[in-house]
Amino acid sequence: MDPDKRRSLLADAAERGTRYLEELDAGPVYPGRSEIARLEQALDAPLPDDPTDASEVLAFLDEFGSPATVASAGGRYFGFVTGGALPASVAANWLATAWDQSCFGFVSSPGVALFEETALRWLKDCLQLPRGAEGALVTGATMANFTCLAAARHAVLEREGWDVEDRGLFGAPEITLVVGEEVHATVLKVIGMLGLGKGRVKRVPVDRQGRMQADRLPEVDGPTIVCIQAGNVNSGAFDPAEPLVSWARQRGAWVHVDGAFGLWARASRELAPLAEGLEAADSWATDAHKWLNVPYDCGIAFVRSPMALSAALSTSGAYLLRSDRRDAIDVTPESSRRARAVDVWAALKSLGRSGLAEMIERNCRQARWLADKLVEAGNEVMNDVVLNQIVVSFGDDERTKKAIAALQSSGECWCGGTNWQGREAMRISLSSWATSQADLERTLKAILAARLAQ
Ligand SMILES: *Cc1c(COP(=O)(O)O)cnc(C)c1O
Repeated sequence: MDPDKRRSLLADAAERGTRYLEELDAGPVYPGRSEIARLEQALDAPLPDDPTDASEVLAFLDEFGSPATVASAGGRYFGFVTGGALPASVAANWLATAWDQSCFGFVSSPGVALFEETALRWLKDCLQLPRGAEGALVTGATMANFTCLAAARHAVLEREGWDVEDRGLFGAPEITLVVGEEVHATVLKVIGMLGLGKGRVKRVPVDRQGRMQADRLPEVDGPTIVCIQAGNVNSGAFDPAEPLVSWARQRGAWVHVDGAFGLWARASRELAPLAEGLEAADSWATDAHKWLNVPYDCGIAFVRSPMALSAALSTSGAYLLRSDRRDAIDVTPESSRRARAVDVWAALKSLGRSGLAEMIERNCRQARWLADKLVEAGNEVMNDVVLNQIVVSFGDDERTKKAIAALQSSGECWCGGTNWQGREAMRISLSSWATSQADLERTLKAILAARLAQ
């Protein structure tokens, strides 16, 4: 490609991306049916026989694709647990895409490997995890849970004299998995992927906030893995770390923490008590694309024992050149991968320790403000708002469902539904740097209007 053409193409991409973000606030938070249909129609074409000019390809994406996106990068998207992307991390991501590094090891990209070492060191620092723990940047908390539980599976079977990577699970000693009744669906998925049996887990009853009840743990015998949750996807509640860890220690069990968003409480002095005691675990999974507000996809696994992690995931191949440094390919399920570390490093560098704590605390303050206003207006907030999550009911199930549908179609903001303690409810997750007080006020107004219309 002609250098001038390339320059104008990439400048156009930056311009269109910037304009998209600038105009996000003016449009609906969820695309209309007609925008989706328009894109579907435009895409309904066979693979072209001949090339298309790259500038035309980009224009198509923006003209038909941009209007069909969900404004989750903006300040009024509260579905699932969805972070926006900090400007520094978007910029870093764009540059790193231009670099197009293969990040499987030090040899394939020494530069990114150095960013990765630093990003992981900073993450352990701000999340107050053991300095000697090994980390891995993966696609999300699902794969972070996978990575951690692969290390756990290795370690608990190694103690029984069984090499699971070599021999598989055929004839292996049985592993007992202990999870809470409110375990995240992806932890069960991962348990299935690792051959540990979703249907074999021992589920511990939970209290009204969804926390495991430490006095109702099962009898266990032999190799055991306990999965603790830091941050329930509905209520934001934390399983009680200290009694769970001490129960596990007495039984020689591996303790894994699914802290996809809740682990970030540890970055704030004010919120850290919620997550106290989790540092004593053996492994921790979290997301960066949620509360650290970096672009998708980015999750992080930490394992206290670097040996357990590399025993579970290291690879060999004559052509996969090794260095005497950390090679990501030995501690992640992936081989070739993008430079996630660059986005993470840029987010942490731009925020600093105080900016990170402030962002997490701000979202929690916003959740308390909104919850209070909803209660004042006569709605039932069903959870203790300890973190960034609100679960709200608008009356009976039918009314709640209708109010959620009305709110979603208003385009003013987007919140999803859930079933909490056997009742239909709406979830509000405050996880974005981009949410302002004005966004909250507009959201409150929209929620109250959607409820009144029922
Ligand atoms: C979001 C979430 C996950 C899964 O994370 P992905 O990034 O979607 O893979 C797992 N556990 C909890 C508690 C979550 O909130």
